[in-house]
Amino acid sequence: MNLRALISRLSISTRLTLWFGTSLLVLLALFVAGLYVSVHLGLHDDLEARLREEAAAVQAHHEAHGFDLTGSSSTASHELQSTPGTFVRLLGPGGDVARASPSFQARPPLSVELPSSRTSTVKTRTWGGTSAQSLYVPFQNESSAVAWMEVTKLQSPIHRQLHALRGWLLLGIVGGVGIAMLGGYGLARRALRPVAALTAAANDMQDRPTGTLPTDFGVKDELTDLADTFNDLIGRLRDSLQRERRFRADAAHNMFTPLTAIQSELDVTLRNPRSETEYREALQVVQQHTETLSSILEELMTLSRIEARTDRPGPARIDVSRQVESRVRRAQQAHPEAASIEWQGEAGLDAPVSPEDLDLVVDHLLDNALKYTPREGRVKVQVAQEKTDVVLRVSDSGIGFDTEAADRIFERFYRTGPAEQQAEGGGLGLPIVKAIAESYGGTVTAWSSGQGEGSTFEVRVPLR
Ligand code: ADP
Repeated sequence: MNLRALISRLSISTRLTLWFGTSLLVLLALFVAGLYVSVHLGLHDDLEARLREEAAAVQAHHEAHGFDLTGSSSTASHELQSTPGTFVRLLGPGGDVARASPSFQARPPLSVELPSSRTSTVKTRTWGGTSAQSLYVPFQNESSAVAWMEVTKLQSPIHRQLHALRGWLLLGIVGGVGIAMLGGYGLARRALRPVAALTAAANDMQDRPTGTLPTDFGVKDELTDLADTFNDLIGRLRDSLQRERRFRADAAHNMFTPLTAIQSELDVTLRNPRSETEYREALQVVQQHTETLSSILEELMTLSRIEARTDRPGPARIDVSRQVESRVRRAQQAHPEAASIEWQGEAGLDAPVSPEDLDLVVDHLLDNALKYTPREGRVKVQVAQEKTDVVLRVSDSGIGFDTEAADRIFERFYRTGPAEQQAEGGGLGLPIVKAIAESYGGTVTAWSSGQGEGSTFEVRVPLR
C-alpha cells in the first residue's frame, strides 16, 4: 500500500496532527540547523581570536625584550609561559623548535607546519588523536632573519560543547514536536467534536425524518453555518417531497374521477338493453370524460417535459409582440362569445424564447382570463420591455381570487372554489406557465384585489 493510500485511511484529526507535526519538525529542524551552524562558526572564530590575542600578548612582550631564540635570558624563558590550554613555540627560520612553553611537556610531539608565505596563518591539524588549531606569526629575531612564533590551542573543548549542544537541540526538537503533536491531536479532536455530533444527528434522522441537525456548538463558526445550510436544504427537500406526494395523490384523484364516471356510465348503460339514442347519449358522456382524462394526461406530460429540461431553450430570437398578437387574434376568433380582448404590444421586441413555449404561456393565461371573466367584462393583453425584461401582462375584470388563493394558485391541481363553479379545468395551466417562465430564468406573478375584483398575471423573462 502506498503512502497516499495509507494517509487517506487515517482519521482527519490524525492527518491534521501529522501535517502539523511534520511542518513543525521541518521548521524547527531548519531553525536548529541554522542555530547550530552559527554557534559552530562562532566558537571557531572565538578560538582563532583567542589564538591571535595570545600571540599578540607574547609578541608584544618579546618585542619589548627582544626575541631570544636561544633561551639564555631568564626573563625570556619566563615569558614563554602560556595560559592553560595554550601551547607556544618559537621557531627558527627553518622551522626548528627554539623554545617551547612548558605546557608541551604533557603532550605528544607536535609537527611544525610552517606556512609557505611570510604572513600570519591559521592551520587546523590533528595532534595526538584530537584536532588543534595553530597560528603561525612571523617575526624578526636578533639576527634580523625571519623566525616564527607558533601558538596552538586544542579544539576538543569546542567539540565537547558542540556535542552537548547537539544533544540538547535534538532533545528539544523531539520533545517539542512530540508535545506539540499531542496537544495538536487533542485540539483537533476537540475541534472536530461537532462533526461527530452532526454525523450522529444525521444518522438519527434516518429513523426520525422530522429531525434537524444541531447548530449550537458553543461558538458560531463555519460548522454552525454548515449545519444551518444543511437544515435549510433538508427543509426544502422535505417540502418538495411533500409537494411531490401531494401531487401524486392529486394526479391519481384527478384521473380517477373521470375514470370512475366512465365506468359507472358503462355499468348503468350495459345493465339493460337500450335504444340507439340512449347508447349514443351514453357514448357522448364517455367521450366527454375521456377528453378530460386525456387533457389531464397531456398537460401532465407537457409539465414533466418542461420541468425535465436541463438546458435553456436555444438562442433563436423571435418578435414577441407579433407572436403574442397572433395568439390573441386566434383566441378571440375561437371564443367569439367571450369577453373582448384589448391588445397593446410594443413593436420590435426580440427575445430568445421558443414560439411553442410563448404560445403555451399566452394560450393558458388567455384561456383562464376568458374562462373566468363574464362576456361583458374586459380582458387586456400587454407586451412591453421593462428595464432588461420582456413583460407579458394579462389582466381581466373576472372572478379574481383572495389572498389565500394567491399563495397557492401556481400549485399543481389547485383550483379555487369560485373557479370550480365557473368552468371546467384541470389546475395544471398555471404550473405549466410557471415552469416555462422559470426555464428562461424568468418569473410569473399573479395578483387580485379579491374575489370578483379581476386579476392580473405577469410573466417576466430576461431579454438576454
Ligand atoms: P384551470 O384554469 O384549468 O383550473 P390553471 O392552473 O390554469 O387551471 O389555474 C389554476 C387556478 O387558478 C384556477 O382554477 C383558478 O382558481 C385560478 N385562476 C387562474 N386564472 C385565473 C383568472 N384569470 N382569474 C381568476 N382565477 C384564476
